[in-house]
Amino acid sequence: MAEDSIPEDKTMTDKGDKRDKEATNRAHPCPTCKKPMRRIDGRMGPFWGCSDFPTCRTTLNEVDGRPSTDINPDYRCPLCTRKLVRADKAKGEYWFCSGYNKGCKVTLDDHEGRPKQAHRCKKCGQLLVKREGKNGAFWGCSSYPVCTASYSDTEGRPAL
Ligand SMILES: [Zn+2]
Ligand SMILES: [Zn+2]
Ligand SMILES: [Zn+2]
Repeated sequence: MAEDSIPEDKTMTDKGDKRDKEATNRAHPCPTCKKPMRRIDGRMGPFWGCSDFPTCRTTLNEVDGRPSTDINPDYRCPLCTRKLVRADKAKGEYWFCSGYNKGCKVTLDDHEGRPKQAHRCKKCGQLLVKREGKNGAFWGCSSYPVCTASYSDTEGRPAL
């Protein structure tokens, strides 16, 4: 009968959506208490915390969208490997090194909510800065004029 027919397309779509959501929420048990971990978008980048906080204070880093004990280099200072901190919105969209008070003045632009990838000078290890020259874009050393190294630009990256 006609009224028994199920709008198949819709059912399938709904199921698909639900399955995706469940896959995201499911199965990242806390290594300490086995309760589910949840993703937290922190000022030092995303991380995972136990849903039983504050009883359980276990936290893990996020690597490839999952909780992990590995360090995610995307959210680390490229010079000193300390964590990067997202600047206050009012100050602009950028990240700065949590070692700022210890003398590391690294700042990175924000790119879609993450610190933009940095490139280091092969000669002195400082960060490179993209510049516009007479003959197009190139990468110069941020410690110029102390270091005068420069690299040509290939698809938005320095040719190191
Ligand atoms: Zn826990
Ligand atoms: Zn640093
Ligand atoms: Zn250099």
